[in-house]
Amino acid sequence: MNIELLKKELEYISHKVYQKGFTQATGGNISVRIPGTDQVLIKKSGVSLGEVSREDALIVNMDGKVLEGQGKPSKEIGFHLGIYQTRPDVHAVVHCHPNYAVGYACLGQELPLPTVTARKLLGKVPCVEVAPSGSPELARFVVEAFETYPDIKAVLMKDHGICAVGPTLEAAYNVTDLLEATAKQAFIVSQLKAAQKLPVHQ
Ligand code: 13P
Ligand code: ZN
Repeated sequence: MNIELLKKELEYISHKVYQKGFTQATGGNISVRIPGTDQVLIKKSGVSLGEVSREDALIVNMDGKVLEGQGKPSKEIGFHLGIYQTRPDVHAVVHCHPNYAVGYACLGQELPLPTVTARKLLGKVPCVEVAPSGSPELARFVVEAFETYPDIKAVLMKDHGICAVGPTLEAAYNVTDLLEATAKQAFIVSQLKAAQKLPVHQ
């Protein structure tokens, strides 16, 4: 595997997440498994996804030890590695703070799925309990959701953001993109129903 190519892809997807407005400031982090190894490329902590360069992709092992690169890995390394350990089908993880999805995450609700596309491609998107960023509790809540529902592609994280997974970085990005579009569509539907005095999210 060409690791330089994988670093380039991590940089490219990071920039897309930021440019699409799916996260702000230095929020969000992305990782990808290095094929055929027990190692993972993960964003350095404190760097904006809009500014990530290949040097900000650190190589870590499954214990979180940095094997290559300068600086500290993302503070959310706990749930990134925990997801890889419980879900062998997952090869990439995207965590970010997209506005409409965060709206539903702040309600502590599962994401409403108003479209056939969302129901088919996303399926269930549960919301995990709130815990401080980077805490072991948050990592446990996120990983437990991926254990409890072995088919899910994403979770909402209460009062925080989302975590999307996939077999590739591109697939995890596409889940993120569809999840945020779905949250926006669900919000529009809820407003239209409210205007017509119909029950919201039914
Ligand atoms: P890092 O900069 O450590 O990746 O943290 C960003 C974030 O979104 C924490 O939840
Ligand atoms: Zn975050």
